[in-house]
Amino acid sequence: MTVNALPFHQRLALQLRRPYMTVACGLCQAQLPVFITDELAGLAVDELYPQTADHLDICPDCLTEYTELVQMAYAAFGLDEELI
Ligand SMILES: [Zn+2]
Repeated sequence: MTVNALPFHQRLALQLRRPYMTVACGLCQAQLPVFITDELAGLAVDELYPQTADHLDICPDCLTEYTELVQMAYAAFGLDEELI
């Protein structure tokens, strides 16, 4: 589930809990599809997208988003999820 699927008051509560993270999270999550595509292609994403990689280390919300996208990508490509 994405944040946008939540009721407004829950989204507001999330924003209020981490107001200083919003811009960084927006940038990180906008980058995730490319980040994951390149990662699955075997590229060095830690070097290509250092800010995104660093942010995933410190932000549980974006890590959750990342994990869901990776699982979707694996399902879409018919890959084995146990490799994650
Ligand atoms: Zn984040």
